[in-house]
Amino acid sequence: MKFIGAHVSASGGLENAVIRAAELNATAFALFTKNQRQWRAAPLNDETITHFKAACQQYGYRPEQILPHDSYLINLGHPVEEALEKSRAAFIDEMQRCEQLGLTLLNFHPGSHLKQISEEQCLARIAESINIALAQTEGVTAVIENTAGQGSNLGFRFEHLAAIIDGVDDKSRVGVCIDTCHAFAAGYDLRTEENCAHTFAEFERIVGFRYLRGMHLNDAKSEFGSRVDRHNSLGEGNIGHTAFRWIMRDPRFDNIPLILETTNPDIWAEEIAWLKAQQEQNAAA
Ligand SMILES: [Zn+2]
Ligand SMILES: [Zn+2]
Repeated sequence: MKFIGAHVSASGGLENAVIRAAELNATAFALFTKNQRQWRAAPLNDETITHFKAACQQYGYRPEQILPHDSYLINLGHPVEEALEKSRAAFIDEMQRCEQLGLTLLNFHPGSHLKQISEEQCLARIAESINIALAQTEGVTAVIENTAGQGSNLGFRFEHLAAIIDGVDDKSRVGVCIDTCHAFAAGYDLRTEENCAHTFAEFERIVGFRYLRGMHLNDAKSEFGSRVDRHNSLGEGNIGHTAFRWIMRDPRFDNIPLILETTNPDIWAEEIAWLKAQQEQNAAA
């Protein structure tokens, strides 16, 4: 079964994210469990946790349908020790919040070398950061997102994801999330069915579908191979509709959250309905 949704706002309380997802007829959703642009947040209180869990129960969302995203400030591969420590502490806090909410996945961008250390050193730091966080938490899988490769962000090659996984001790609690816009901007073509088949054959060879824990379904305003991260609504960007229809008809993407981070929330309900319809082999383009 395909779990399809969007990254919804949690403003006014975490349970509102659940309600917003339900209003979209979504069967999955993503959210921030704290303000993504701040380092610190008040700890979750029992009331928040209870309300969130009750809403998930009421609207029928199980943990495997929910893909929380961490703060944008965290850099688990930071070249400077003190800043690395700050990021690691914040990441552990994010993992613990997921644990408290009964969630099992945490999606994050791997990290940046800031041109101060090598790619290899940075990837090793990211893996070690994950090891530290997994050792201090239970039940939450660290889900590494591929990036567009903007600036000094790593994770734009499938080899980067594989190298990080290789350095993680507990392979049962590490996974990846593939963002279609990021992959396309990083030079993985998705414009035709043949391109999609080739790109995901590369993914299978280098990382493996057994590590795939989620997808971000975004079209790209950015050009192919541009290393620029600019999302677009499905079918309105340089990727086009074909890739999204192809993904909806491939069972390797079953039972993981498929999340829109497209640019116009006003049409999310339509985009979700369109994606659901593409599962039928005879669905119109
Ligand atoms: Zn994404
Ligand atoms: Zn992006």
